[in-house]
Amino acid sequence: SRRPFIVGNWKMHKTVAETVGYVAEFASHLPSSSSGCDMAIAPPFTALSSAVAAAHGTTLQVFAQNVAAEGPSGAFTGEVSAAMLKEVGCQGVIVGHSERRRYYGETDAVVAMKTRRALDAQLLPIVCLGETLAERESGAALEVIARQLRAITDTLTDADVHRIVIAYEPVWAIGTGQAATPDIAQQMHRHIRAIWEATFGASADTLRILYGGSVTADNIAEFTALSDVDGALVGGASLSPSGFANLVRGA
Ligand code: 13P
Repeated sequence: SRRPFIVGNWKMHKTVAETVGYVAEFASHLPSSSSGCDMAIAPPFTALSSAVAAAHGTTLQVFAQNVAAEGPSGAFTGEVSAAMLKEVGCQGVIVGHSERRRYYGETDAVVAMKTRRALDAQLLPIVCLGETLAERESGAALEVIARQLRAITDTLTDADVHRIVIAYEPVWAIGTGQAATPDIAQQMHRHIRAIWEATFGASADTLRILYGGSVTADNIAEFTALSDVDGALVGGASLSPSGFANLVRGA
């Protein structure tokens, strides 16, 4: 009943020209009757407009990788507001990626503010949660995810709960070639859904929870087969249009 969702997070990769070429090639690899899943790419800010134009008339959606915690405008040098992302045609935005938390100091509170901004601008937020290796090894993984998730659920109204996607991305699985085992992914996704259910009741049945961390065309089916995994947030394996098309087909 939950439609799978596959999202390519390009991180700091691809120029405008590369983005336009990618979208054209990606579209040529997919059957025009779109597969049974939702698909999006998340290019850098500079390529968003071109990506939206290139994807026009296809089912490929365009997401941003980050959004300002402040808004709708103001003296915030270097920041891009949710309204600006909406204006260029983004359908949503990734918030709280572990690289943002780790390298740019984003706290749970900042991630919650960004989620609020996205929702208020009618963008679909994909909120990333994930424990580090040290946290997992010390037995704190469930607790860390619960803390990160509660920072978000505490700020949501009933109207928001159907307009948000969660991504579980264990930090130790990102870019390492060491994906989570299906057992770990299922356990953590179930945990997230159980917290959602305790907070918002039956809407937990429709909440999409994506897995991220070393997902490839070869392992995607193992994840989408799990009862609480509803798609994937893909880094490296989303950078090649034919590879990403393969991955989407395998979902
Ligand atoms: P990789 O797929 O390269 O491990 O990256 C995952 C990720 O961070 C997606 O947001």
